[in-house]
Formats: sequence, structure tokens, C-alpha cells
Amino acid sequence: MVVKGDAKSQKTAAYLKTLIKDIYDDKNPDKIITIGGDGTFLKAVHLYESILDKVDFFVFNTGHLGYFSNFDIDSINDLLTKINSDSYQCSEFNLLEYKIQTGSNTISGIALNEVTIINPTRTLMLDVFLNNQLLEHFRGTGICISTPAGSTGYNKSLGGAVVDSSLEAFQVTEIASINSRIHHTLSSPLLLSKKHEVEFKAEDPTCIWITADSKSLTIENFQSLAIILSDRKVKFVRNDISFIERLKKNFI
Ligand code: NAP
Ligand code: MN
Repeated sequence: MVVKGDAKSQKTAAYLKTLIKDIYDDKNPDKIITIGGDGTFLKAVHLYESILDKVDFFVFNTGHLGYFSNFDIDSINDLLTKINSDSYQCSEFNLLEYKIQTGSNTISGIALNEVTIINPTRTLMLDVFLNNQLLEHFRGTGICISTPAGSTGYNKSLGGAVVDSSLEAFQVTEIASINSRIHHTLSSPLLLSKKHEVEFKAEDPTCIWITADSKSLTIENFQSLAIILSDRKVKFVRNDISFIERLKKNFI
């Protein structure tokens, strides 16, 4: 279990623990229940990054947005039945894989929602490559690269498209790009298939910020960031809420 610190989430966790038959194993779980909101689910995904192929997530919402949630107080018995009988089906979410190159270091990782590259105080200057071909010289605040599951997160606030999570695609969305007589970028959100790798290279080594979901990294001497849609996936216990219902429930 990965549980948010508030009283309601803690109480729900204590209650569920008394009724779940599985042996509790924090180190090598095959089922993970997250109790809280989307932030708690994202935290759990990163906590168990190395064993994602082996675990099924039950996402219990205790009163946050909970876009990812498939259980709440009204369906707590359904959760218990599914977990105790081991009879449930899973949907899968695609992940992004990123690789950061600095002058002295390589840092890699995964993201379920998005990776962003940002400089909030100075104009970020990047050369953007698709499969090693130069697309544009970007000038602006930043760039957001999101999965279909993450398309309703930060990407949506940037005017990116909402994408059905059964599509094997990822999206590149600009954050306040400069477009003038001198500087040009594509300006539209760009939806790419799995065949593509997108790479951002610093024109000069600089300090920038990179986020992967709720995680944030300060990168000194940044050289490049490469991103692909990963073969690795997050397995998420399915419920009867359709994609359309999920959109209506959370946004309309
Ligand atoms: P947070 O500040 O609580 O997240 C902001 C909101 O986004 C919360 O209401 C969260 O739901 C919701 N959310 C997270 N993933 C979502 C998704 N895939 N679809 C729809 N809504 C989603 O921080 P957090 O809980 O750690 O979540 C991190 C995420 O926040 C990032 O991955 C990014 O997508 C998003 N974010 C958005 C902006 C923006 O829109 N300007 C800026 C930074 C980050 P809960 O209330 O259930 O946690
Ligand atoms: Mn949150």
C-alpha cells in the first residue's frame, strides 16, 4: 500500500488491511493499492519503478481529483472481492523513457504522465530533433512531452489534445514558445507514433529543470534529453468506467 498522509486515507488503509487476505509485502509486492489521489498513484509508480511489469495497481481515491482512480468508498467491496479472489482484468498504460546527458553524467528514468524541460526564469534555447533530424530551434519557457494517460494532466493545461490511452503515441506540447519574425517553432501540439525518438539539445551547456511526473531535477551543465515511448507499461486494474465517462466525470 502507498498511502497519502491525511486521516481519511490512513483510516481507509487500516480498514482494508484487516480484510485483505494476501500476505503484506512492501519489498516485493504483486498488487499495489494506492490510497489518496493521482499524486499518490504517481508516487507509487516511481517507488516501484524497477518492478512495474510484475505489479497490478488498485487506485483508490479519497477525495482528490483522482483521474486515475478506479475505486472509492462506494466501490470498496468490489475492490475487496477483486483483490481477495484474484479475479480481475488489467488495462495497460504506456510509459515514457528519458535519458538526460550532462557534461559528466547520464540520468535515465520513466514517466507515466509527462516529462517537461523548463527554464522558468530565462529563455530556454533548444535544438529539437526527431529521429536525429533537426526540426526546429526552440525559444521559450519549456516543452512538455506526455503520454496518452498524461494527456489530461499538464498537457491539457497547455492546450494539448486529450488522447485515448489505447493509442501507442506520445505528444510534444510547447510552453510559451517565442514566435516572431526572428524565431519560429511548429507552435501546434505534435502527436508522434512509437517509431519516433525526440531529442532536445542545448545550444550551449546551461542549467535547466526537468520533471518526470511529480519528480523534479535541477540539471547543471545540461547537454541533451532524449525521449521515446517505452515498451514497459503500468498495469492498472480495470473497472467499468469508459474513457468517455472518465472524461465527463473529471472535466465536464
Ligand atoms: P498536483 O499539483 O496535485 O497535480 C495537479 C492536478 O493534476 C491534481 O488535481 C492531480 O490530481 C491532477 N492530475 C495528475 N495526473 C493527472 C492526469 N493524468 N490527468 C488528469 N489530472 C491529473 O501534483 P501531483 O498530484 O503530484 O501530480 C503531478 C502532475 O501534476 C504532473 O504529472 C502534471 O501532469 C500535473 N501538473 C500540472 C500543471 C499544470 O496543469 N499547470 C503543472 C504541474 C504539474 P490529484 O488531485 O488526484 O492529485
Ligand atoms: Mn496531487
